[in-house]
Amino acid sequence: PTFEYAPAPESRAVVDVDSTYGLFINGDWVDGRGTAFKTVNPATEEVLADIHEASPDDVDLAVKAARTAYTRVWSRMSGADRGKYLFRIARILQERAREFAVLETLDNGKPIKETRDVDIPLAAAHFFYHAGWADKLSYAGYGPDPRPHGVVGQIIPWNFPLLMLAWKVAPALATGNTVVLKPAETTPLTALLFAQVCQQAELPPGVVNIVTGAGDTGQAIVDHPGIDKIAFTGSTGVGKMIARSIAGTRKKATLELGGKGANIVFDDAPIDQTVEGIVRGIFFNQGHVCCAGSRLLVQETVADEVVRRLQRRLSTLRVGDPLDKNTDVGAINSRAQLDRITSLVDAGEAEGAERWDNGCALPQKGFWFRPTLFSGVTQTHRIAQEEIFGPVLSVLTFRTPQEAVAKANNTPYGLSAGIWTDKGSRILWMADQLKAGVVWANTFNQFDPTSPFGGYKESGYGREGGRHGLEAYLKGSI
Ligand code: NAD
Repeated sequence: PTFEYAPAPESRAVVDVDSTYGLFINGDWVDGRGTAFKTVNPATEEVLADIHEASPDDVDLAVKAARTAYTRVWSRMSGADRGKYLFRIARILQERAREFAVLETLDNGKPIKETRDVDIPLAAAHFFYHAGWADKLSYAGYGPDPRPHGVVGQIIPWNFPLLMLAWKVAPALATGNTVVLKPAETTPLTALLFAQVCQQAELPPGVVNIVTGAGDTGQAIVDHPGIDKIAFTGSTGVGKMIARSIAGTRKKATLELGGKGANIVFDDAPIDQTVEGIVRGIFFNQGHVCCAGSRLLVQETVADEVVRRLQRRLSTLRVGDPLDKNTDVGAINSRAQLDRITSLVDAGEAEGAERWDNGCALPQKGFWFRPTLFSGVTQTHRIAQEEIFGPVLSVLTFRTPQEAVAKANNTPYGLSAGIWTDKGSRILWMADQLKAGVVWANTFNQFDPTSPFGGYKESGYGREGGRHGLEAYLKGSI
């Protein structure tokens, strides 16, 4: 595809995707044989591009290309040479960062200051980090000949499209696997732009294949007998279906699923910093974050003050045009997601929790939801148990650290938690008790390629990032 940015009078970028280059298979653009679909800008409801759907036959082509590239080229190449390609990709991502940031914001609806400062730089950082590993695997205790799985099927969600791609593609390539990746149907554009980056980096054909489509295309990848491992990020419901589909086969899987993170605030926490952390925890990326701090557990003695200050802070959040660099909260990614958020928020009210929102004006077109806070929430309320995946915070209270731990652990999920307190010993004790893959202390939503990330319980299994994430792409691991 060609992505051209013609600045319009109001300085909006225009994306023009040549739909004849639908799927990226074996280093080339081929037509998809499924039913074409459109991707829209969620902030305006304008169509951005026509996207090809990969049929099972197209997926078969992609898997075969990945297999040939694996056996003939990629698995034979030295780690040092693989690393050079990854460094090249990382540098191109940096060079084209602005283009990627604009495209991601258009397709996803998230604020440009987040794509500019978080999504794209972190995606490049993942390639740099894993480039560094490629030639060191044999020194790092993985034996003289660390063995990759082979062909990996990778399926990703829409909330961090390029970043989730980077979390998956970089470690797979560094360890010598080849990939067939499917981006989410509402946010395929940066994955297609990434295919251009692979061409620009002269990555050998077939090492990375990108097929677009929805659940059927994903299922075709999962079911394909030529796939050795599935790496999936998405909802717990689809994750369970994938686990069932591959049960009894030789396929390995890592599943990064949903969450219902607890942000736990003690009465000795520094209040201004804590309020900022709570806001970052749930309103960053419109709350479309698997590890969002969507439940605030606040010690009873300071609960009223924290809620008051939060409401004051939320009233200053700027909601609107995601391309405006002053915007704090952008558009909800799709109408379907907006409907899911609305129905859970309605359930929260019906169950008796007290609803408050910041009352801001919303644009006429597009999908929007005001930053919302529920107080008086109890543990059995649906808004305390189910993932809303939107800009909605449920506030619960506790009296003792033991009660905080019990409430934090009382959901089917176990992905993230945050602790806000002045006491180091309490942080260590709490971190040990919390059933969460990530525990932040006096901060929230901090990410780094060197840190493993992943879940307990119904938040999935396997880790991404750090040494643990790398191991998930080597035989003898998961
Ligand atoms: P989703 O499960 O609906 O879709 C995720 C991907 O799976 C998409 O590409 C989709 O097309 C594909 N898919 C759908 N049905 C499939 C099937 N039957 N077989 C194979 N693939 C299929 O999730 P979503 O709405 O795109 O993303 C939101 C979810 O992702 C949230 O639950 C969120 O918590 C989770 N998430 C988790 C992490 C993590 O690291 N744990 C990170 C980001 C998002």
